[in-house]
Amino acid sequence: MRGVLGVSLLSSSPLLAQEIEKPNIIFIMADDHANRAISAYGDSINSTPNIDRIANEGVLFRNNFCANSICGPSRASILTGQHSHKNGVTGNASKWNGKQTLLPRIMKEAGYNTALIGKWHLNSNPGDEFDYWKILMGAGRQGFYYNPDFVTSEGKTVMMKGYSTDLVTDEALGWLNNKRDKKKPFMLFVQYKAPHVPRMPEFRFMDRYVNDTIPEPKTLFDDYESRSSYLKKANMKIGHRIKTLPLLEDHDPSENIYYARMTREQLVKWHSFKDPETKHILKLKQEGKLVGKEKKRLAYQMFIKDYLRCIDGVDENVGRLLAWLDQHQKIKDNTIIVYSSDQSYFTGQHGWAEKRFMYEDGMRMPLMMRWPKKIKAGTEVKELVQNIDFAPSFLNMAGVEIPDHMQGESVLKLVSGEKNPKWRKSLYYHYYDHGKHNVPRHEGVRSDRYKLIHYYTDDVWEFYDLKTDVDELHNQYRNGSYKKEIKKLKKELYRLRNQYEVPDNHFKAPYVSVGYHKK
Ligand code: CA
Repeated sequence: MRGVLGVSLLSSSPLLAQEIEKPNIIFIMADDHANRAISAYGDSINSTPNIDRIANEGVLFRNNFCANSICGPSRASILTGQHSHKNGVTGNASKWNGKQTLLPRIMKEAGYNTALIGKWHLNSNPGDEFDYWKILMGAGRQGFYYNPDFVTSEGKTVMMKGYSTDLVTDEALGWLNNKRDKKKPFMLFVQYKAPHVPRMPEFRFMDRYVNDTIPEPKTLFDDYESRSSYLKKANMKIGHRIKTLPLLEDHDPSENIYYARMTREQLVKWHSFKDPETKHILKLKQEGKLVGKEKKRLAYQMFIKDYLRCIDGVDENVGRLLAWLDQHQKIKDNTIIVYSSDQSYFTGQHGWAEKRFMYEDGMRMPLMMRWPKKIKAGTEVKELVQNIDFAPSFLNMAGVEIPDHMQGESVLKLVSGEKNPKWRKSLYYHYYDHGKHNVPRHEGVRSDRYKLIHYYTDDVWEFYDLKTDVDELHNQYRNGSYKKEIKKLKKELYRLRNQYEVPDNHFKAPYVSVGYHKK
């Protein structure tokens, strides 16, 4: 066992009883929420006042990243504190071993009452991972936006009338008010499906942004020059084709699982917002105006507006959770409330709408937390942090020992404003879901300034200087002036492989995700 931080926990001051009162944790996670769509990060394209409040009243992490940019693996890394090859969830289809050492079970053993509500997405229902759970089901465990199914810890599947983000929050507040064991500290995971595809906003946000032009990222029209052919070949381009919804009179909702969930009344309301847009697009098509750059521009606007409308729903619901804490001042002071997403998202950068790649907007993750008792408002952490750090951090903050085999590090010192000269100088990344969206397996290392990517299935390398090329448009792998840095980072990549015990056979054909395609 590694040492437990938090000197105050061990102090012999008269305040001991009060000091050792364990903090509650509310961990809120969205799905595919890009840093660029959170106003706390600046340079953003929207306004998220409630999410920002967590950062403003606590700490904002400037450099938080995931270990493998896809839904299931990121969730597994958060729960286990381990890289994908260790916890077994290398791809979305991987088997989930709920019996391994997990943050929520350790917390339970340490006296916490634990719950998870919302999107679970791992490939078997939770068992005893949490005391209470109620998870979204359907659409390949992604969950539906309208009238979603939930499965509860009692094993029942219930269809709930309403909108996913609202319902998840209702259930979370219901657990806080009525279901939790009030004699124990609690750890509650609130996991939204939004703004994941198919990006269906709640009606009250549908009239937003209609006449606005949302700023385009600089790299929307990236030509992929100087980089490997994988970028050009990836199936994640915006504007490849513009799909329109049939008009209400022509729409058979049974053809699509998401619309099939809607009541007739909901469907009619949906079309009252969408049909004018459809008519506009059909008109442009008829006039021959839906070509080239204009087509891509329009596709970007359509995508990003629904994306932001979904996020508006998340932000409003984060506000409801914050309001609950405001109404429970005593709980609030010793509650760590966290906002994150399983990964950021390419919101038009490199012409894409997806994740997976190790380029910045795929690899990043938003992260902020508030803990009035311990974290000074307005704190910023610039160190390199990763999703494998979440579990060790929460354990550490709760004064619970961190198991040796967790690979992440606790951020407690960093958020307390202490300098930690021994903090890591580089991050390891490994994407396994070979071929999905035509993105190959790859691994790499990122330091505070440089990034080395290894597409090892064909032994293709890329190297970026993030200081001079923040958009990663210039692969410098063949540039002799970076020879020394490339050599250094390659050495670091091999050191990290060794440190995290990545098996050698991961780099040998056949290249399928571990646990993937297995019968
Ligand atoms: Ca995701």
